Amino acid sequence: MNLTNICVVKDLLSRYGFNFSKGLGQNFIVNPNICPQIAEYGNASSGWGILEIGTGVGVLTKELAIRADKVSAVEIDERLMPVLAETLREFNNIKIYNEDVMKADLKKIINDDFGGLRTAVCANLPYYITSPVIMLLLESRLPVESITVMVQKEAAQRLCAKVGSREAGAITVGVNYYGTVTSLFDVSRGNFMPSPNVDSAVIRIDIDKNPRLDPDEEKFFFKMVKAGFSQRRKTLANGLYSLLGIAKSDVYSALRDLGISESVRMEALDMEQLIALSLGLMMKEN
Ligand code: SAM
Repeated sequence: MNLTNICVVKDLLSRYGFNFSKGLGQNFIVNPNICPQIAEYGNASSGWGILEIGTGVGVLTKELAIRADKVSAVEIDERLMPVLAETLREFNNIKIYNEDVMKADLKKIINDDFGGLRTAVCANLPYYITSPVIMLLLESRLPVESITVMVQKEAAQRLCAKVGSREAGAITVGVNYYGTVTSLFDVSRGNFMPSPNVDSAVIRIDIDKNPRLDPDEEKFFFKMVKAGFSQRRKTLANGLYSLLGIAKSDVYSALRDLGISESVRMEALDMEQLIALSLGLMMKEN
């Protein structure tokens, strides 16, 4: 079945009485060139198991299953289960979990389904949970080598921004802490059914094998980063004092130790400075 042919997909969905849910970010890809590219950039090949988030009618799932050894996909919408049973019936290397990705036990899915295979995540993510899903995948330290996702173009710009620039946010620091981000290609809104109000882009995060901080340090680092960026107009000392209760004098002295101006804002610090600052503040806390 050609899942990028609008008439075929419309007919399929009407047979199952399916209406698109805006709340679940259901914009399905209908350009035949996009999913093969996501699959190829996303490491879908022999020797790999791919975890997909949000299958829709299975247009990307299929391209992943053609290339990879195994595909496990998490899809929240129960109404899509009978549709997928039809569209993916010719494949015996796909497993669908009818679950919310934010609640699913992804570690168990990967361990149970992909024993011995290298693992990657590929998805056309629902827009409403882009950052939480990416942070969940990274923070839970899944045994995953790369995350290749289509996201809203503005989100892609933020993800790919330079840490230490105005465009950066907490999510930028998050992805750059765990790995390296690459912007792959843009996808305009006309390539989806229904067509969203925004354009999209595909990015890949290649995850570093070794964490840079130990778990306690990492926890403190992200607490500091989230606090600093949630009050980005304030100076760092004011933001950390009001949200985390860290004494301004401690922030000033940690900044002085690093040779950084006391009036700095978090967005001006690069990755090494952020890590050094969090270690410095942690020492003052203890
Ligand atoms: N992969 C398909 C494609 O590219 O055409 C569908 C992508 S669509 C942008 C996002 C999909 O994620 C939808 O099928 C939606 O039902 C599903 N979804 C939304 N929220 C989810 C959640 N919390 N957990 C799992 N799947 C979710």
